Amino acid sequence: MRIIEIREATKPIASPIRNAYIDFGKMTASLVAVVTDVVRNGKRVVGYGFNSNGRYGQGGLIRERFRDRVLQADPATYLNDESANLDPDKIWAAMMQNEKPGGHGERSVAVGTIDMAVWDAVAKIERKPLFRLLAERKGIEVTPKVFVYAAGGYYYPGKDDTALRGEMRSYLDRGYNVVKMKIGGAEIGEDQRRMEAVLAEIDNEAQLAVDANGRFDLETAIAYARMLRQYPLFWFEEIGDPLDYALQAAMAEFYPGPMATGENLFSHHDARNLLRYGGMRPDRDWLQFDCALSYGLVEYLRTLDVLETFGWSPARCIPHGGHQMSLNIAAGLGLGGNESYPDLFQPYGGFPDGVQVIDGHIIMPDLPGIGFEGKSDLIAEMRGLAE
Ligand code: MG
Repeated sequence: MRIIEIREATKPIASPIRNAYIDFGKMTASLVAVVTDVVRNGKRVVGYGFNSNGRYGQGGLIRERFRDRVLQADPATYLNDESANLDPDKIWAAMMQNEKPGGHGERSVAVGTIDMAVWDAVAKIERKPLFRLLAERKGIEVTPKVFVYAAGGYYYPGKDDTALRGEMRSYLDRGYNVVKMKIGGAEIGEDQRRMEAVLAEIDNEAQLAVDANGRFDLETAIAYARMLRQYPLFWFEEIGDPLDYALQAAMAEFYPGPMATGENLFSHHDARNLLRYGGMRPDRDWLQFDCALSYGLVEYLRTLDVLETFGWSPARCIPHGGHQMSLNIAAGLGLGGNESYPDLFQPYGGFPDGVQVIDGHIIMPDLPGIGFEGKSDLIAEMRGLAE
């Protein structure tokens, strides 16, 4: 058994939207195929992966470093002990040879993208959904019902409060009961007006989370906390710079409600620093590490070990990104749920065809691997790369 080929294509996932920091008009993502020599149902097993929105495609790093380290490795060094399947940990180690510690920049995206494709192949070789394989290996119960919330509420040219309310109403109509909007891209009075419009629209039918995308310095963060704490928000997300743990820790004095962060921390070392120094509270706060941006599931399992050491339940994790990989991790390892972007980043985000959101939850269908074959627009794009 061996990996024959790793293909990468950088694809546009541009949208005419803006958060407090970036414009998504030129956003891209890497699509990766890991082609094995294993044959199932008369066809080669191919694992697929991609990186989540918010970081760009990593074709350069994949082609110049990470792909060839795997292809040039002796297959005996990356198979499991029975040589019956690929071993994601060993493939990860092959990718990371000659990489210094620290500086978990965009290489974590390149590795995370290939890692997703490896896990897809591993589960397909075992003829199982990835979430069942993960639960089995961990010796825990599968929870096929997964909480999902609708992320949107971006700044958009010409978007007024009526359009924002309409967007949020459409998420409620599609079964969501938690919705999220962006703040920090306007001045505080305007953001408060936008929020109040949304709260009036969703009334008692849903809860609202707000996301500042790391925009605020300490003074602005405190001003926003004072304004926001009068509303019953689901969470207040990514208040300051992702690596400013002192700012995050200070916020607990000004904001008693739930806070969330972690989508821009890319290693278990960074996650540990957040828990050590960020003042995050395991009884109410949320952790949003996204495996597709942070060295993949191999590293995410290390992050979950860190959480356990610090007394955090995996149920406090609701990853960023809205992809099916995190849905599998949520169902297989008992995370608290997953992000979802009902109208954005297609065909990569979302659920297999026919999966409905009911009372803010979906039920995982039993599809081999990550389940990309169940999403027709996505698998068409993927097969175009490698089949
Ligand atoms: Mg965010």
